[in-house]
Amino acid sequence: MSHRILLLGAPGAGKGTQSAKLADEYGVEHVTTGDALRANKEMETEYGTPKSFMDAGELVPDPVVNEIVEAALNDADGFVLDGYPRNLDQAEYLSEITDLDAVILLDVDEEVLVDRLAGRRVCDGCGANYHVDFQPPEEPGVCDECGGEHRTRRRPLPR
Ligand SMILES: [Zn+2]
Repeated sequence: MSHRILLLGAPGAGKGTQSAKLADEYGVEHVTTGDALRANKEMETEYGTPKSFMDAGELVPDPVVNEIVEAALNDADGFVLDGYPRNLDQAEYLSEITDLDAVILLDVDEEVLVDRLAGRRVCDGCGANYHVDFQPPEEPGVCDECGGEHRTRRRPLPR
C-alpha cells in the first residue's frame, strides 16, 4: 500500500529534510511545490503555464499551483507532500483531490526557527531553497535548479 503523507510546519522547521527521510523510508515520492512547478513548467492551465509566471519574475498564482500539485500527486504512487498547502484555499483544494493517510506537524521552538531562517534564501524564479551556511548554491548568487539569478530575498515569516 502506498502512503499519502502531508508534512506541516513553520518555515525552518525542517520539513524538507524530514520529508525526504520519510519518502525514503516508505519508498514514496517527495513532492514539493517547487519540484512540481519545475517538472511541469510547460503545463498549460487556464491561466497560462508556470513558466510564463516564472519568466516574468512573478509568483505563480494559486489556481496554477493547485493544478500542478494535483498533477504531481496523481503521477506519484504514494507521496510525502511538503510546502503545500500554504493557505486555506489550497488546503480546501487538497482535501478535495486526495485522501491523506497521515498529517504530521513539525513543532519547533520559535527561537530555533528564527536562527535558521536568518540565513535562508529562496530563488525568485523557481522557489528553490538555500541557506547561506547550511545549503549554499554551488555558484554564489546562481540557482542550482533553474540557473536563474538567485536573489537574496528572505522567506517571509509565517503570519
Ligand atoms: Zn531557481
